[in-house]
Amino acid sequence: MSRDAVFTFDNSYAAELEGFYIPWKGERAPEPKLVQLNRSLAAELGLDADTLAGERGASFFSGSEAPEGAAPLAQAYAGHQFGDFSPQLGDGRALLIGELIDRNGRRRDLQLKGSGKTPFSRGGDGKAVLGPVLREYLIGEAMHALGIPTTRALAAATTGVMVMREAPEPGAVLARVAASHLRVGTFQFFAARGETAQLRQLADYAIRRHDPDLTDASDRDLGLLRRVRDRQAALVAQWLSVGFVHGVMNTDNVAISGETLDYGPCAFIDDYDPVATFSSIDRRGRYAYGHQPAIAQWNLARLAETLLPLIDPQDTAHAIEVATDAIDEFPTIYQDIWQTEMQAKLGLGTRKDGDQDLVNDLHTAMDGQHVDFTLLFRHLAEGLRGDMSPARALFDDPTALDPWLARWSARLAEGGGNSHALAAELDRVNPAYIPRNHLVEQALVAASSSSDFGPFERLLEVLERPFERRAGLEDYEGPAPDEFGPYVTYCGT
Ligand code: AMP
Ligand code: MG
Repeated sequence: MSRDAVFTFDNSYAAELEGFYIPWKGERAPEPKLVQLNRSLAAELGLDADTLAGERGASFFSGSEAPEGAAPLAQAYAGHQFGDFSPQLGDGRALLIGELIDRNGRRRDLQLKGSGKTPFSRGGDGKAVLGPVLREYLIGEAMHALGIPTTRALAAATTGVMVMREAPEPGAVLARVAASHLRVGTFQFFAARGETAQLRQLADYAIRRHDPDLTDASDRDLGLLRRVRDRQAALVAQWLSVGFVHGVMNTDNVAISGETLDYGPCAFIDDYDPVATFSSIDRRGRYAYGHQPAIAQWNLARLAETLLPLIDPQDTAHAIEVATDAIDEFPTIYQDIWQTEMQAKLGLGTRKDGDQDLVNDLHTAMDGQHVDFTLLFRHLAEGLRGDMSPARALFDDPTALDPWLARWSARLAEGGGNSHALAAELDRVNPAYIPRNHLVEQALVAASSSSDFGPFERLLEVLERPFERRAGLEDYEGPAPDEFGPYVTYCGT
């Protein structure tokens, strides 16, 4: 490696999983331009942000030039999309550039998304456009600031090519950082082909990378399934706790690492609504807000199927039995994590009898009342400081909240404690700022149609400190105005 190499890659996927990918190169961009660079993430990855901010960064991050030491490749994977199995998807517009070991010793993938056609592109153009690239950047970084496991955005670049969507849009590339890009769909790819030796190799790689403590366990494949299950349960509980709707929980978008992967048609609920669905193609609400836990379990069952020949190569009936048990435990595990999230959101502290009912009954009280989910928890904290009227006013019929408020107050009184201190605790876990759909749209439209990155940058800055309410940011707090209308999101853009 030459002295001026910008990245110190350590490419385990390329080296250890030959046959699981196709080595490939990005398309040359005629006019590469860096439009965003995440300096704090660059520092975490041990990269020199000043070098990346220059022409070389534009050239790397647009996919034009592979940096020294990179082993760019397109990964093979399959996936269930809206319930139907596609045996071959793969990186149709993305390339794994290489892996970096970050400052904390963690291995991270550097991937480019939108870098041109690959052998997995099927009918697609291999491209991404600026709006969706910035959406993934913004929402991924917001999720990170909310403390939710997610892939990160290192940079966004434009290519200088206009790309045809509904209208011509500026072509762009996202540089994405992930704990890995192993998906449930990666396992499905080899399982569907009956390639058990490759599955063995893949599971061993996944265990080394994400669950190395399982390496010597006699039931390590069942152990892997349980770990992925537990990570998904925690992830989805966190999503629901902030009102996040992923929108396209296909098995190719379910990361083994437990990070949120792919921000295509995602959105945040304003009003609490268990069946809230935003994606234009999700007509039946398969991936609705409140369906996400059940869908996560369904996706895990698909992973379990792929692991059966590894879990017990001699006795399939036994493999099915133990894998089924692992999947059947999901609702209990999920419920437990969700309850823990809610205990914190409501300041309940250690769990007591009746807490689960208290949480459930709050949701029942909200149902059909057009309650802004994010504001409710901040307003409840205001209530502890003495004024409960803003919380009550969120309900169409404020008296619908009163019986619950009385129970909540009584429950908090049991704990004793200072209500102002408790309010401050609530504010540390309940965000004041989430990526409100209307603000995200405004920011993306300004950037893609008038190259005005101001709204994007301001919103990003607000979302980087979501729990800290600041004067002058009132416009970032509330739900979309009525004239914004129902929000519709689009996949594959
Ligand atoms: P996604 O909906 O982004 O998770 O993508 C699902 C599959 O479609 C993956 O195999 C992608 O690589 C592929 N894909 C999405 N958009 C494009 C595109 N514009 N060109 C080629 N492949 C694409
Ligand atoms: Mg995807």
